[in-house]
Amino acid sequence: MSDIVVTLPDGSELSVAPGSTVEDVAYEIGPGLGEDTVGGVVDGDLAGREEPLEADCELVIITEDSEEYLRALRHSAAHVFAQALQRLYPEAKLAIGPPTDDGFYYDVAGVDLDADDLEDIEAEMYDIIEADYDIERVERSHEEALERYADNPYKRDILEEEAAGAETVSFYVQGDWEDLCRGPHVESTGEIGAVELLNIAAAYWRGDEDNDTLTRVYGTAFETEDDLEAYLERREEAKKRDHRRIGQEMDLFSIPDVTGPGLPLFHPNGKTVLRELRAFVDDLNGGEGYDFVETPHLFRTELWKQSGHYDNYVDDMFLLDVNDEEYGLKPMNCPGHATIFNEGNWSYRDLPVRYAENGKVYRKEQRGELSGLSRVWAFTIDDGHLFVEPDDIEREVDVIMEQIDEVLETFDLDYEVALATRPEKSVGSDEIWEQAESQLRDVLDSGGLDWDLEPGDGAFYGPKIDFAFEDALGRNWDGPTVQLDFNMPERFDLTYTGQDNDEHRPVMIHRALYGSYERFFMVLVEHFDGNFPTWLAPEQVRILPISDDNVGYAKQVKNRYLGDFRVEIEDRSWKIGKKIRTAHDDRVPYMLVVGDDEEAAGTVSVRDRFEAERNDVDVERFREHLRAEVEEKRVEPDFVG
Ligand SMILES: [Zn+2]
Ligand SMILES: [Zn+2]
Repeated sequence: MSDIVVTLPDGSELSVAPGSTVEDVAYEIGPGLGEDTVGGVVDGDLAGREEPLEADCELVIITEDSEEYLRALRHSAAHVFAQALQRLYPEAKLAIGPPTDDGFYYDVAGVDLDADDLEDIEAEMYDIIEADYDIERVERSHEEALERYADNPYKRDILEEEAAGAETVSFYVQGDWEDLCRGPHVESTGEIGAVELLNIAAAYWRGDEDNDTLTRVYGTAFETEDDLEAYLERREEAKKRDHRRIGQEMDLFSIPDVTGPGLPLFHPNGKTVLRELRAFVDDLNGGEGYDFVETPHLFRTELWKQSGHYDNYVDDMFLLDVNDEEYGLKPMNCPGHATIFNEGNWSYRDLPVRYAENGKVYRKEQRGELSGLSRVWAFTIDDGHLFVEPDDIEREVDVIMEQIDEVLETFDLDYEVALATRPEKSVGSDEIWEQAESQLRDVLDSGGLDWDLEPGDGAFYGPKIDFAFEDALGRNWDGPTVQLDFNMPERFDLTYTGQDNDEHRPVMIHRALYGSYERFFMVLVEHFDGNFPTWLAPEQVRILPISDDNVGYAKQVKNRYLGDFRVEIEDRSWKIGKKIRTAHDDRVPYMLVVGDDEEAAGTVSVRDRFEAERNDVDVERFREHLRAEVEEKRVEPDFVG
């Protein structure tokens, strides 16, 4: 029998004898990997280490470090939850129970649960884990599946929608319990090291407010008890740092009912932070040859039809009728920028053309999905679109990568980079895809970065580079994206005259350094626990007169020396201890304490928010330090420390 071809995630191919196991292939790649292998994903399905490969396939090797493994483990924990629930409440009906980024949930009906019930269910879950049932995949006919779920409208709905027309569907069986499921799962319930049920919420079936209200139980699972403990600690810390809570404490923003869901109001303190963030990227863009443009918040739907948003995105758009004509609030800024480009006559000498706009966009997220500033209906993107000759992709993307690096470094955010390449369905010629992807690879290689390849994960209209960064709590966030686009230039018939005097298509590059200001703001609030770097802090310095007699001197210090900074004077007649505590609670980076001694000597006492202190400071010296700290965008106040 001839060899089969196994395609690995980096696109490389390996010929092996049919019947080789996942583990055999891993050893073929390297002995270390072979030893660490716990399983594989074969053509998208999780498979055990011993699974024989009989035909050509795509294979991702899974080690205990793989994200896929943890997701499979958590999905298995969701099943264990459902099994435990039905042991205790046989009347409970199951809807869906997927893994999430940090755990799992299961939506159920027919039971009324409270926090105490969760403890009982958790104890039952540990019994199931200890019993170490094998988790086995079983195929059943579609008809039989419908019969089994005669009194479960949710599973029937799944069978009639997602699984419509399928001859067989898969169930996963553990002990005497089973669930309609596509998998993947770990091999037995005993692989789950630790579980915790976290909380109960309400959810609509299929997220639709017109459907049944279900009970959603959130939980998480890990391979070890230690991993779970570490996670619970991080979660506790994240709760303390919740941006909604800090936002209220620092008077940064609000989302009151009267304005509508997902429509945040930035108060003066929050807007100060936004203005600084904006000035930072405007400066970066101005320095790299971007032209600033401005476009309105709504356009006729003609434009959205031309851009393709009307066909693909209309459910998420806010539409309105004006004099019998349909308009749509913009969900993206690109069509406006493409149209501006189209109003000009361009030669190769004019390219690249780079447009930047801090543009507000509107996306109709489901109300149940809205949460603080992380998911909103209205947000601003620090958007940029470049129109470049195909040969210039590498040079332009290189500059964008440097900009992104500068932004993330400034906030002390470590990041990872991945290149997502051509998917099966795509527009654009082979030539342009190959040219673009090889230039992106060159950029990534020349940057000396470790980067991942995500084969086939690009958009249908072009490859992209994705950034993911990690915050101070060890949480991972989707970061900036550099997206190449071969489609929109076609749809808008964008052209430039080349050196050969013929008309050519530019490539469009979409990029943002923060992405959504609102979401980035939220991440910063939690990352810094509200202790913004001095350059961002709404109030940079607070002067604290020891007695009312020193208020005049405080004003002198402020007016004579600190006019370029955001400085307040605490002139309430409080004891100095209370003034210091209050400034500390308000997260002001610097406090200047002034009493009779300071007034006589013409100095100040400097305290920072870490409670470090230095007396007899020359005010001019402090000012020069502050200027440098702000200009260099240092992360922590460092005058005293
Ligand atoms: Zn499942
Ligand atoms: Zn765009």
